[in-house]
Amino acid sequence: MTAPVYFWNLRSSLKAPYAERVRRLLDRTGFAEHVDAGALTALKIHFGERGVTSHVQPLWIKPIIDFLAGAGARPFLTDASTLYVGQRGEAVSHAMQAALHGYDPLLLGAPVLIADGLKGGSQISLPVRGGKHFTEAHIAEGVAQADMLVSINHFKGHEMAGFGGALKNIGMGAASKQGKMLQHVTTGPSVNIANCKGCGACVDMCASGALALAEAASLFPPVETGGKPRITLDLARCVGCGACFLACKTGGLEIDWKTDVAAFLERMMEYAAAILLNRAKPSLHVSFVTSVTPDCDCMGFSDAPICGDIGILASLDPVAIDQAAMDLVNRAEPHYPSHLPANLKPGDDKFRALRPHLPEHMGLDYAEALGLGSRQYELIAV
Ligand code: SF4
Ligand code: SF4
Repeated sequence: MTAPVYFWNLRSSLKAPYAERVRRLLDRTGFAEHVDAGALTALKIHFGERGVTSHVQPLWIKPIIDFLAGAGARPFLTDASTLYVGQRGEAVSHAMQAALHGYDPLLLGAPVLIADGLKGGSQISLPVRGGKHFTEAHIAEGVAQADMLVSINHFKGHEMAGFGGALKNIGMGAASKQGKMLQHVTTGPSVNIANCKGCGACVDMCASGALALAEAASLFPPVETGGKPRITLDLARCVGCGACFLACKTGGLEIDWKTDVAAFLERMMEYAAAILLNRAKPSLHVSFVTSVTPDCDCMGFSDAPICGDIGILASLDPVAIDQAAMDLVNRAEPHYPSHLPANLKPGDDKFRALRPHLPEHMGLDYAEALGLGSRQYELIAV
């Protein structure tokens, strides 16, 4: 089945400025017809780790909140704790980080409520039907209990998932800490001592304390390092978050991308299915295909985008909207400087150019098989 994906390319005018264009975009999805008066509506968003500038900005979502309130909903902004410590590892720091990035309830008309409680333990288990990996998924309570769900994502590259869009925002982002851990569990790094230069950059990146530099003399089996320290990994402490991979430019940390990442993507899609397919009402997905950075908004920095700003997408189908966003980015002229290969042309797959070992459809085929939506879509300009 072909699913409609509504698209605004950001062209604007005095007669139809930003807020009016967003209202028209959301109106076309038909979501408002499903909203009951007073429905507590979770707007699942990523507030951006400290140092990030490419996340969805508060003023961009004000028209979405106004639209939902106009339809009778009672919207609130939400996200769940991260596995790593960072600025979003528990509710107090997370709410402060949202405030620092300007998510002000009085300005926006919606409060920030962290979905999985003070320390990430407030969760509800929902069934997964037809999955290979799980029969139940552990979901942040505030998302699982919300009457309606709106997913707002910044579409960009991602270190482990290839890209971050609607399905990742829900499948990983709305999982509780335990749920996140269970999705990541087999994807820890392995150390390649021969490639490690002992710089320590990955140690600073690892919030779990799983990485440390060891004196050359203590390494076993013995390795010739010219007396310099080398990296060691305590797998028992590793939560498989993948943050360290970006730190290492020399191949000192490796992962079996071919096997583990495909399974990781499947687990993430099963979580998305548990969240979206157990709901009585459809969910709305909004993708900001702007500032398409190579890496996600958890990394503490925003690199130069891999293409120009493309627009905003809205759909009731999370698979279709992710496929459409990926296609639009891949068709766009590549931008430099970023770490895209220099010979890339419009139409080449930018996400697999960034991470060549990722599976071809990056989990969207599995999401489709789970019944989450359709990879066939019609792009409808609004
Ligand atoms: S994946 Fe890397 S950064 Fe993440 S916990 Fe494991 S060692 Fe640390
Ligand atoms: S593994 Fe890479 S980032 Fe970590 S200490 Fe070695 S060279 Fe540096």
